[in-house]
Amino acid sequence: MSVVDRFLRYVQIDTTSREGVDRVPSTEGQWDLARLLADELRTLGATNIRLSEHCMLQALLPANVDYDVPCVGLIAHLDTSPAVSGANVRPVVHRNYQGGDIVLPGDPTQVLSPARTPILETMIGDDIITSDGTTLLGSDDKAGIAAIMELVARLQADPAIPHGPIAVAFTADEEVGGGIDCFDIDAFGASFAYTVDGETLGEINDETWHARGATVTFTGVSAHPGKARGALVNPAYAMAHFLTLLPPGLRAEHTDGREGFVHPHAGSFDAERATVSLLLRDFTVDGLDLKERALRECAQAAAAAVPGTTVAIDVQEQYRNMREVLDAHPRIVAWALNAARRAGLEARTAPIRGGTDGARLTFRGLPCPNIFTGGHNFHSTTEFNSRRGLEKTTETLVHLVQVIAAAHAPGAASRPDSAVSAPR
Ligand SMILES: [Zn+2]
Repeated sequence: MSVVDRFLRYVQIDTTSREGVDRVPSTEGQWDLARLLADELRTLGATNIRLSEHCMLQALLPANVDYDVPCVGLIAHLDTSPAVSGANVRPVVHRNYQGGDIVLPGDPTQVLSPARTPILETMIGDDIITSDGTTLLGSDDKAGIAAIMELVARLQADPAIPHGPIAVAFTADEEVGGGIDCFDIDAFGASFAYTVDGETLGEINDETWHARGATVTFTGVSAHPGKARGALVNPAYAMAHFLTLLPPGLRAEHTDGREGFVHPHAGSFDAERATVSLLLRDFTVDGLDLKERALRECAQAAAAAVPGTTVAIDVQEQYRNMREVLDAHPRIVAWALNAARRAGLEARTAPIRGGTDGARLTFRGLPCPNIFTGGHNFHSTTEFNSRRGLEKTTETLVHLVQVIAAAHAPGAASRPDSAVSAPR
């Protein structure tokens, strides 16, 4: 069985998670995949296989070397995004891609095009894997699952590949948040871990946002509109003015790369109060502080511009950039870069413009950068991966466990590999 075969099997199991369900897992389908993977892990010789009441599957591959190597964790998530249907996924393999548009057969209005997705131009000759266009593909994150399972199979098939202890985990409800809070880090037993849930081949994510949420509330004075002159102070105008005062350059839709933003995403008003909720995002604390200051100044100015209104500003931390922690453990990212290079990829670090389960684990004491999967266009009907994407991700994991073992082998300190550091 190849990693592609595994992938094609896993994506056909509907594991769509659901928003607004107050239990984990939010859907039954995640159990189907978890049980299947538990059986496969058993067949492949994994030990200590545990499926928790929250559908968190953990297992262990014992070391096959006789020196001490810390236990590495490898993590992928079972569920797919509820943004697009994940029921009855029919994967399509477009063999030997020769460039140009790929029309998805189940819905010809769904077209994968190099004009919108330039990375396709680098994939000539590869086998592109899509859905039929009526569902998402589920590469996010069944590509990660397939690569980890294929690693387990290869290690079983070839005992000559030296490795330390490896903890694997498949987790529920990543896409709807909260699932990872049910993850038992102590039982997992890893000293550090990697989520296998990224995108472009070679890209290791060692950064997430520093994230804060702001609620800005303008309070006015309510009065009957028929007797409003000199009495009514309508807070809606202060809110509207506030939004126009925010510098356009800070809008999410005007930023990418390492630029942060201030993003109003919800709001409401009535006769007395107008409230708007905003996301503040930046990769540095200083940058985030600047954005918060700008927000506070604009809110005060807007209240001053509508006499009679007052403003209350509440800012809460949401999560922090995992690089804060990972910078203290540079070898963890360096090992992943080294493994990607050994798989023939151009390895580099890149920030994620969002939060990850790995970031939450990192701040709970399990440092956890994110490894690519080769997948793209997540959460959409044009989601895709490829044969090479899946194979290179697997190859990287096979190198990774060896790189980590080699770094702890007797005498490793004198070998150049152990001194490798992550380029910034
Ligand atoms: Zn994912």
